[in-house]
Amino acid sequence: MRKVVKFGGSSLASAEQFKKVGNIIRSDESRCYVVPSAPGKRNSRDTKVTDLLYGCYGKAAEGKDFSGNLKEIKERYYEIIQGLGLNLSLEEEFQVIEEKFKEQAGRDYAASRGEYLNGIIMAEYLGYTFIDAATVIRFDKNGVFDPEKTDRLLGKALSKNEKAVVPGFYGAKEDGTICTFSRGGSDVTGSLVAKAIKADVYENWTDVSGFLVTDPHIVDDPAVIETITYRELRELSYMGATVLHEEAIFPVRKEGIPINIRNTNDPDAPGTFIVESTCKKPKYTITGIAGKKGFCSINIEKSMMNSEIGFGRKVLQVFEDQGISFEHVPSGIDTMTVYVHQDEFEAKEQQVVAGIHRAVAPDFIEMESDLALIAVVGRGMKSTRGTAGRIFSALAHANVNVKMIDQGSSELNIIIGVENREFEAAVKAIYDIFVLTRI
Ligand code: ASP
Repeated sequence: MRKVVKFGGSSLASAEQFKKVGNIIRSDESRCYVVPSAPGKRNSRDTKVTDLLYGCYGKAAEGKDFSGNLKEIKERYYEIIQGLGLNLSLEEEFQVIEEKFKEQAGRDYAASRGEYLNGIIMAEYLGYTFIDAATVIRFDKNGVFDPEKTDRLLGKALSKNEKAVVPGFYGAKEDGTICTFSRGGSDVTGSLVAKAIKADVYENWTDVSGFLVTDPHIVDDPAVIETITYRELRELSYMGATVLHEEAIFPVRKEGIPINIRNTNDPDAPGTFIVESTCKKPKYTITGIAGKKGFCSINIEKSMMNSEIGFGRKVLQVFEDQGISFEHVPSGIDTMTVYVHQDEFEAKEQQVVAGIHRAVAPDFIEMESDLALIAVVGRGMKSTRGTAGRIFSALAHANVNVKMIDQGSSELNIIIGVENREFEAAVKAIYDIFVLTRI
């Protein structure tokens, strides 16, 4: 059994956190490849090292004195090194960093040093081999990630090292220029390492005990999802529920490697398993509820619309021409409604209205803003009667007016449109009916 373990910034923010991580790794022989993030926040007022590095480099790029900023970063690492009682000096590393900053080696180079230095400390602390991600995670000359080359390089390097640390978040072009993934990208590195060694599990350690059924800002202490499929996760994360970088799913998904989200501060909790498919019934009929505020609906009416071939295409073409993506298009016999993101739409509203008039000559167009969409997701809905009934009676009891309903043909989700101001009440009502009362 071989596991890849990735630790997020909050799990590595201090020596105390590092010690927890050390205990987790040492408690299981199969945790042989470690992917660390940069040190994150030690408390809510703190700053992540990655952000300190961006700030520091910003000054260097403007030709300003950045020594104070660099000192602050150095102190973060030395606090960890001393707290762990390691005999490790990063002086040479920091000299190189200072020089490279002066040469303006780039924002990606700057940000990557957070993971790089944390990786050196982690390897020293565990007695594992340090593998610089610049040598194994490959980007092409245009800075686009190269999955094939990476897989080959990683496979080769890891086959020679039974226990290794590969820092997350960055890689390099053939010529050595450092490139990073987007923010939170250490998750992607972990997934690539897991794919390369065909790991049995990719453990992603963070500061929550797994993927929650819904947003803890809306529902107090929501239940943890035990097992979720990749498809369910996509639906929920699209609607804003995130614990994992979106692109971290694809490498392991292709290999059928499960991801296990775990909590460094509660290592005995089993966390959430993200899997390709499962015959395990979810604990509740629904797997999760997520949603977003800030949508607009554009309702287009025209008599005999149903017999006008190409009507829908012409309407959607107007949105495409304006560079606006649509979310949902519920329709009636003489009506078609398009849901879009309010912030993308507002500035182009009148161009869209004019475009629709020109394209399809509707009888009238009506618009509404400040709407929220809620996705109720669950593989269990397919085989359960009355799920929709339960959702809507719960919403009626909570006095929430439903403005739109859309059930995906996969029967994996039901999307509900409500007014922004009723969003929280709606999520709570759905959560209560499925998780608390469990009927
Ligand atoms: N340190 C990087 C960030 O803050 C990458 C990561 O943590 O995954 O975004």
